[in-house]
Amino acid sequence: QIFAFPKEIITGEKRCALLPANVKAYKLSGARVLVESGLGESIHVSDEEYSAAGAEVITNRAELLTSAEVIISVHKLPLNELTLLKDSAKTLISFLDPFNDASYLQELQKNNITSISMEMLPRISRCQKMDALSSQASLAGYVMTMKAASKLPSILPMMMTPSGTLKPAKVFVIGAGVAGLQAIATAKRLGASVTAFDTRSVVAEQVQSLGGKFLEIDLGETGETSQGYAKALTTVQMEIQRQAQAKCIADSDIVITTAQLFGRKPPVLISEGTIALMKPGSVIVDMAAESGGNVQGSVAGEETVCHGVTVIGQGNWSNYVAKDASQMYANNIQHFISDIWCKENKALNIDLSGEVLSACVITHQGKIVSEMLLSLQK
Ligand code: NAD
Repeated sequence: QIFAFPKEIITGEKRCALLPANVKAYKLSGARVLVESGLGESIHVSDEEYSAAGAEVITNRAELLTSAEVIISVHKLPLNELTLLKDSAKTLISFLDPFNDASYLQELQKNNITSISMEMLPRISRCQKMDALSSQASLAGYVMTMKAASKLPSILPMMMTPSGTLKPAKVFVIGAGVAGLQAIATAKRLGASVTAFDTRSVVAEQVQSLGGKFLEIDLGETGETSQGYAKALTTVQMEIQRQAQAKCIADSDIVITTAQLFGRKPPVLISEGTIALMKPGSVIVDMAAESGGNVQGSVAGEETVCHGVTVIGQGNWSNYVAKDASQMYANNIQHFISDIWCKENKALNIDLSGEVLSACVITHQGKIVSEMLLSLQK
């Protein structure tokens, strides 16, 4: 089968879905690998390195897309390029953001494209090595903490010297999933005093094992979905949470919010009134800003100041460490491909009865086949 790796064309995106080491693995399994010229230039990987590993470097993007059978990228291909793939039963693999773009899904169906969404891989042990949401979220947790620390007009660790003593900074992390746990670990390594909260109480132990304190809030029944994601809180529970965490927020130098609800808008957890309680010069990072925000008034992609508090709404955090992010993503993809690769046919085996593909194939043979999306459309 012929794989193609086009350049990412979203402004500012530096990551890519393939490194030279992956080319070798794909070639060994019997695939042909085409890459768009300049694929790795943002992370200092040259076309020559891809060629030396066995890839064919192609300059004409349309030629690359039309000659491949499987197209692999970080972000989904732009809508206007889908018609180039018309009627040739191609497979697209990338982050697809399937819940938020119905017209894109229609275009995939119309052009008979098999689309695979990396964010829909099941969060089961077998898929850990393919879990691109987790690899990118861990890097995000690290980068957000570093960014917040760099904005703070003080340091994170306690400093006791003959010339003076400083108390450790206080960091509060809301949402202790993959990104939140990495934010906690990073802030601890930098010497901060860290507290965290998550509606999934099972997380308390994980927070404590990283040296953080878990803020206890009695919300009554919360729970998880069958895929292990947090369930949405009721309006009453949300208000209890907002009030119970206000003091901790007011005392914190840095607040990092990472709360998400799978397939839904993230909850708004910090009001402007609570921001006003924080010390001027404090920093909030709203990881959810791009999808609606955990923080009232945060602006996607921007840094704003509210009551003297810097509110960072930038997103795509792993892109700041694009080299590591590309390596992790490219390896996740490679493990995924090898999981669904048929050695005899030297091609992907799109068998929708399996646990993995039944979860992450979105469109196939002109139809939406994802049970989760179909159930949401009802
Ligand atoms: P996510 O990005 O969907 O959400 C981030 C966190 O926000 C979650 O921990 C969630 O509980 C929390 N949250 C939601 N509402 C909140 C609120 N009101 N207040 C505070 N926190 C709130 O989560 P994720 O990091 O992608 O992880 C999702 C699940 O998948 C978790 O259970 C995680 O442990 C699990 N997981 C499993 C594997 C595996 O291979 N077994 C791998 C990665 C993640």
